[in-house]
Amino acid sequence: MLTSKLEVLVDFGENPDQQILEKTLNELKSQDGVVEAVFKNGALMVETSLPSTNILNLVSNTSGKRAVLQGFGETQSAVCMISNQICCPSKVMGVIRFQQTAEGPMVADGSIDGLASGLHGLHVHDVGDLSQGCESIGDHYNPRGSPHGGPEDPEDHRHAGDLGNIVADETGRATFRIVDNVLKVWDIIGRSVAVTEQRDDLGQGSSPTSKIDGDSGKPIACGIIARSAGIFQNPKRICACDGVVVWDERDRPLAGKGRRVEKSCCKKEESGERRGRGAPLGPRAPARPGAVRRARLASAPPRRRAAPARWV
Ligand SMILES: [Zn+2]
Repeated sequence: MLTSKLEVLVDFGENPDQQILEKTLNELKSQDGVVEAVFKNGALMVETSLPSTNILNLVSNTSGKRAVLQGFGETQSAVCMISNQICCPSKVMGVIRFQQTAEGPMVADGSIDGLASGLHGLHVHDVGDLSQGCESIGDHYNPRGSPHGGPEDPEDHRHAGDLGNIVADETGRATFRIVDNVLKVWDIIGRSVAVTEQRDDLGQGSSPTSKIDGDSGKPIACGIIARSAGIFQNPKRICACDGVVVWDERDRPLAGKGRRVEKSCCKKEESGERRGRGAPLGPRAPARPGAVRRARLASAPPRRRAAPARWV
């Protein structure tokens, strides 16, 4: 059983209630797929082959306290925040963590919200260029020049970046833990990951694009893979661009109505939407300074000259 070590921060306060702590540890140890669970340096250290999201839910439900993942993996780790890179908040958002195991395989552990229920392709792409959103991340990462395939195929019958499909449930959430024998964490840092609108046929279909991208359609959300902290290496909160603090993060969906967005990097797009009087943002278009003001002048009587528009 290939396991990962998780550092789980639990909102116990100054002094953890020993009864609750014991109950939580015992519940963790009773799970198939949990090898070890101890309380160390103010956090739960869990060694497991289960998806981290399942462990967080179990800890929260047993202790009645909020729990967040503070560290993942002991050695080489990486993380990728997934979104559509155009709208903020993005409809599809998620986090994927990567861990290089000492045994050789790489683990991709993640949770993505806002998907249509069913199968969606997941791929590592060649470059971490988001200048055109998910359209500029290149093809599937393919250092051997192989045709598209599935994660179980040998190296010369798959792109290295072919991670197969993830499954979204009826709420639109996909929770997964993929063990891959081809990719290494040090090879993918700086590249990107994308989730596609359709299922990946793993190169087995009759469509002309089957051997290229598994006929999986366009990437609908993506992100750059960055080096990250392992267990006991990260004293900071997760930055999710909206100022949500570490404990609040656990209570909010990654996307959708429950996600608070204010005073952040999202503000540009919010104010742009207001000035556009509700016009859909759509794909990014080159800025046309003064375009909105000209449109107003064309439809309204002359009025006092307003101060120049500027981003706030
Ligand atoms: Zn591929």
